[in-house]
Amino acid sequence: MKQLNNDNAANRTSYVGHVYNVGEKEYKKRILDGLPKEWADLHRTGAIHIHDLDAYDLTYNCLTFDILQNFPYDEFRSLSGAGQILHLFDWFKNLFTTLGNEQSGGMAFANFDNEVATILENLGIDFHHHQELIEASIAELILWCNGNHSRMGQTSYYVSLNLGLANSEVARFIARTVINKFESLGEKVFKPNIVFKVVEGINASQGNPNFDLLELALRCSAKKMIPTYLLCDCKEDRDTDPHKLSVMGCRTRVVANLFGEDGAIGRGNISNISINLPRIALKIDESHPELSFEDKMDLFFKKWDQVAMTTKDILLDRYQKLCQRDADDFPTNLSHKLWCVDFIEKENLEKVFKHGTLALGFIGISEAIEVLFGKKYYSNMNTYIATLGFIKHMRDYCDFLKNEYKLNFSLLATSGELISGRFIDYDKELFKPRVDIFSKGYYTNSFHVDVDSGLPGYKKIQLEGLFHEYCNGGSITYVELGEAPLENVEGLREYIEIATKAGVHYLGFNFPKDVCNFCGTSGVFDYCPSCNSKDITRIRRVSGYLEILDGFTKGKIAEEKNRKKN
Ligand SMILES: [Zn+2]
Repeated sequence: MKQLNNDNAANRTSYVGHVYNVGEKEYKKRILDGLPKEWADLHRTGAIHIHDLDAYDLTYNCLTFDILQNFPYDEFRSLSGAGQILHLFDWFKNLFTTLGNEQSGGMAFANFDNEVATILENLGIDFHHHQELIEASIAELILWCNGNHSRMGQTSYYVSLNLGLANSEVARFIARTVINKFESLGEKVFKPNIVFKVVEGINASQGNPNFDLLELALRCSAKKMIPTYLLCDCKEDRDTDPHKLSVMGCRTRVVANLFGEDGAIGRGNISNISINLPRIALKIDESHPELSFEDKMDLFFKKWDQVAMTTKDILLDRYQKLCQRDADDFPTNLSHKLWCVDFIEKENLEKVFKHGTLALGFIGISEAIEVLFGKKYYSNMNTYIATLGFIKHMRDYCDFLKNEYKLNFSLLATSGELISGRFIDYDKELFKPRVDIFSKGYYTNSFHVDVDSGLPGYKKIQLEGLFHEYCNGGSITYVELGEAPLENVEGLREYIEIATKAGVHYLGFNFPKDVCNFCGTSGVFDYCPSCNSKDITRIRRVSGYLEILDGFTKGKIAEEKNRKKN
C-alpha cells in the first residue's frame, strides 16, 4: 500500500495507517476551514506552520512524565519478584502505547535510571538476585521502542530516556545497562532516544562518580549517534536542579514556570507554530531591493512582528479550545497523574495545561539573512551581531507575551522535519531572489549554520552557542562528522566541554551510517565492503530522532545529501 504522504519520517504502511491518513487530511481541512481566513491562509500558503494541526482542538503536544507521583504499586503486590520486574517493563510499554495515542508528540523520563531504581526499591526487589532479568527487560524495552509501529497504525512512539545522574548502585546499573544494551543490540536499533545529562561534579570530569557512565555514553554515541547530550551546566540551565531538567528527542525544553517550580517534570509543550523567516526576507527583497542592509533588517523586525502577533492569536485560540475539553478525553493522564497537576473530572483543564508551554518557532534564519544581505549570517561580525539581535528580539516578544497573557510562552528553535521542504516549495514558486537559496531544496534548521558550511566543529558550536540562550523553548546544535568517530571518543568529550562553555544547551553528533542488510557491516558506503551487497539501510538523524533514510521527507533528503563534516 502506498502511503498518502511521508510527512513523518517514522512512518510505515498499514491499512489502519492508510485510513488514519485519509481521516487526518480531512480533519486538518476541517480545522483550517473553521479558523478565521487570515489565520488559515498563513498556514495554507506556508508563511507559518501550525504543527500537529490535526490535534488542534483535541490534545497537547508532549510530556515529561511525573512517573513517581502516582505509580500503581498496588497492582504489583501479589506478584513474585520476577513477575514484578516483567510487569514493570510491560507497564512502561502500555504507558507509551496509551499515552502515545492520547497526545500528539513525544514523551520522556527525566531520570530513567533513578526513577526505575526507586520503583524497584519500593517494590522490595532484591536487585542482586534479579540482575539478569532486569538486563533482559531493558534490552526488550529498547527493541520494543525500536520495532513497534502501532501508533496511529503506522508510526513509532517518540520516547526519550534522560539519564546520567544515577545516585545509587541500582540506578548506576540501570544507566549502564540502557547504554550497553543500546550499543550492543545491533546496528539497526536506533530507538528510543537516549539523552545523557552532563553535570560537573556528577559525571562531566575524571574523578566524578559517574564519569564512567559518560565515557560509556560517548563510546555508544561514537557508534550510533545516540545518546545526545543535555548540558545542564550551560548558562541558561545551571541555576536549575539538573534532576528537574529533561528534554525530548526533538529538543523541546520546558524549564521556567509562571505557576510553580521551574523544571520539566510533569510538564510539556502544549503546541507550537513555526514562522517561515525566509518568506519575510524574500518579500522585503522583492519590494525594497534598494534599501541598505540596516533598513532591510529594520523592516524584517517589523514584518516578523506582524506575523508573530497573528501566530500568538492562533496559539491562544488553540490553548483555549484545548482547555475546554474534558478530563475524560485524557484517560491515561486521568488515571496515572503524569502531569504536575492532576486531571480531575468536571474540572477545567486550564489548571493543568497552564503549566505547559506555548512555543513560537522559526526556521531558516540562514537563508533569510542571505536574502537580505547577500551573504551568510556567519560570514562577518556585523551580520552575525544583527542576526543575534533578531533572535533576541523574537525572545523578547515571547517574554512580553508571557507577562501580557500570564502563560508560559517560549521561543523554539524548530527542528526542520516537514517544513524545511514544505516552505521552500511554496517560496520558489513565488519569488526570484538575487541569491540562490532554492536549488539545495530545503531551508536550514532554526538558527543553524548551513550543514555544508565546512566550518570546524568548535567554530560551529561557538557561533550557535549564543543563540541557545534565547531559545528557551528548545534548541540543539549538531556537530557533523564525516564518519563514525570510533577512535576519537575523547574528541567528543572535548566538544561537550566547548559546547557547555559556549552556552549550548543540547548537543548531538551526526554522521552518516550505512548498514549492510546482508552481513551487518556498518560504515559509509554505496555497497558493502565486506560482501559487496547493495542492499543497504541508511540511518540518519532528522529533526532530533534517528530514522531510515527512505522514510525522510523530500526536504530532509536534500539536506542530508548536502551535509559536509565540520
Ligand atoms: Zn555485507
